[in-house]
Amino acid sequence: MRVSRPGPGTPVTVVGLAKSGAAAARWLLQIEASVRVTEVGVSPSLREAADALTGAGVQVEIGKHSREFVEGSRLLVVSPGVPMTAKPVQWAKEAGIPVVGEMELGSWYCSGRLVAVTGSNGKSTVVTLLGEILRAAGRDALVCGNIGNPLCGELGRIGRSTIVILEVSSFQLETSLAFHAEIGCVLNVTDNHLDRHGSFTDYQKAKARLFAHQRLNSWAVLNADDPGSIGLKTTVQGRLAAFSRTQRVEGGCLLNDQLQLTLPSLSGPICRPAQLPKQGAHHEENALAASLIAGLLGIAPEISGSVLQSFEGLPHRQQVVATVRGITFVNDSKSTTVASGLRAIQAARGKVILIAGGRDKGSDFRKLRPWTKKLRAAVLFGEDGHRIATALQGAVAVREARDLEEAVAIAYGMAREQECVLLSPMCTSFDMFRDFEERGEKFSEAVRGIACGV
Ligand code: ADP
Repeated sequence: MRVSRPGPGTPVTVVGLAKSGAAAARWLLQIEASVRVTEVGVSPSLREAADALTGAGVQVEIGKHSREFVEGSRLLVVSPGVPMTAKPVQWAKEAGIPVVGEMELGSWYCSGRLVAVTGSNGKSTVVTLLGEILRAAGRDALVCGNIGNPLCGELGRIGRSTIVILEVSSFQLETSLAFHAEIGCVLNVTDNHLDRHGSFTDYQKAKARLFAHQRLNSWAVLNADDPGSIGLKTTVQGRLAAFSRTQRVEGGCLLNDQLQLTLPSLSGPICRPAQLPKQGAHHEENALAASLIAGLLGIAPEISGSVLQSFEGLPHRQQVVATVRGITFVNDSKSTTVASGLRAIQAARGKVILIAGGRDKGSDFRKLRPWTKKLRAAVLFGEDGHRIATALQGAVAVREARDLEEAVAIAYGMAREQECVLLSPMCTSFDMFRDFEERGEKFSEAVRGIACGV
């Protein structure tokens, strides 16, 4: 479907008033479109956002979606949190109104160079790393998207020379139409959000949309060690570069204990794996991905290498909180998939007392069973903690806790010196917390409480 971009006076309805919806509405106001916003939820923060937009001249309805609000629009813009089954989307489809996501809308007005990174795990880490590498090389780089600052909110800061590093989720790809980036990277594709996408195939198809409209001279970057990522090779329209820890590929690889850039146009050593501040296969994969994308932008491997060596990682991703009586407490609250949980278990030194649970996204927790030898015990909490307990029953000692604080106390009671108490929930936080940050902070607080009592 060909859709023309809105201009002054074009009636556009935005669905959802969280960060992305609000940013889309503000941008549409700026280009003088006739904007309406519909939001089914009600909360003090939504009311505040609604009041601010109403004051700026936007027509806002909250607490419901009504058909009249949608009909008469020439475009429907949806926030990533709004499922395709939502009523306004259905009404728009019935009325022949095109539906796009906030990222698609933003891309229509983006004058910078777009680099898009998606994947089941590692997106935020890789886009942050890439931003630091580009800035170290003196480039004008801006990191935005799913990481917390929507593209529409950054358009005013983007110029022709800006390299826009966009973190992209599968939900944003689902509502893309013609979106294309100069460089698109899929880090990995493992089970995630199956509650919303329905099946792994549909989830992988959403990821493949990253390449659907790329040009012949665009780059697709894939992970040769991850079947879900490299499996998308056949969908690539432009040029392909890959990274791997296990084989020689054109792009970036681990050879002779060196992470190396192996592009025909630019090659050389990045750094040794032991020089990365954190050890583990996924840290090497992320390092290779960021250095390879930087290499495609002409940045020398030594520059990437020096940034990588000082990058301590983002908070709430395998972050050491404290060591008490020889027991290390690790906050991996951002881990909401089985794949990221497994990576954290594999990376831990010594045996692990795993704290997990929360709201399940349709994961298969039996995939943990081959790794139970590395676990001393699993302490489960939250809405779907019992599902993990069932999957692990008989393979490892399982305890259930009422809340996170109790889980930390139980785990501490079971742990021995040189072992690790790891919060890697493999579920979302929304059953008990505002977000993964609040969950991670509560964990750290409970750990500090233990440390003070020692
Ligand atoms: P995302 O933005 O995709 O959620 P993050 O960088 O925020 O990714 O990391 C989320 C979780 O995934 C954390 O638990 C982190 O330790 C883990 N992780 C980071 N990189 C990878 C990777 N390449 N493969 C698997 N897990 C990863």
